[in-house]
Amino acid sequence: MEIVILRLGHRPERDKRITTHVGLVGRALGAKGMLLTSGDKGIESSINEVTQRWGGDFFVQTGVKWSDELKRWKQEGGKVCHLTMYGENILDVIDEIRAEAKRDKTRIMVVVGAEKVPYIVYDAADWNIAISNQPHSEVAALALFLDHLQRGKELKTKFEHAEMEIVPKKQGKEVIKKVKGK
Ligand code: SAM
Repeated sequence: MEIVILRLGHRPERDKRITTHVGLVGRALGAKGMLLTSGDKGIESSINEVTQRWGGDFFVQTGVKWSDELKRWKQEGGKVCHLTMYGENILDVIDEIRAEAKRDKTRIMVVVGAEKVPYIVYDAADWNIAISNQPHSEVAALALFLDHLQRGKELKTKFEHAEMEIVPKKQGKEVIKKVKGK
């Protein structure tokens, strides 16, 4: 399943940390990349540094126009999941989304907002999905959505081309440094 995140409404003076976390959670939990409507290159470079060190091929593309990306995604047959507390409860729609994704090898775009999300996004989305109908955080909403969508399988993903790899331990910490590309 190909999953890409579209982060809307990033405000460079307020949202740096949270948008970076949206990207890091996406990377760690099975998304292929993040499209960011802002041109904030600092976010791109800090996520790329993590990918360089810890592996995988997560991409960050800044300065995109969200309406063009949504349109293109849909024209190419992809589906759009907009995370919003006003949507349908995730437990009521996740089976349908999973079935659709599996049936047609559908690509899933996950839209998360920062400030007020334009109404047109609610209309363009194939599903408006609430991770409970209470306000909380795009980071938590994204993590739970990705986990439900993939039934937790993403938690066992091996990241290729890592410079560092953690050896899971009951106690203490162990990290091995790897030769790049092995
Ligand atoms: N006030 C904004 C609005 O009305 O669109 C939302 C602000 S909220 C802090 C930022 C983002 O977190 C939302 O756009 C949404 O993607 C996500 N979010 C927050 N709570 C959520 C929930 N209960 N379910 C799904 N997504 C949620």
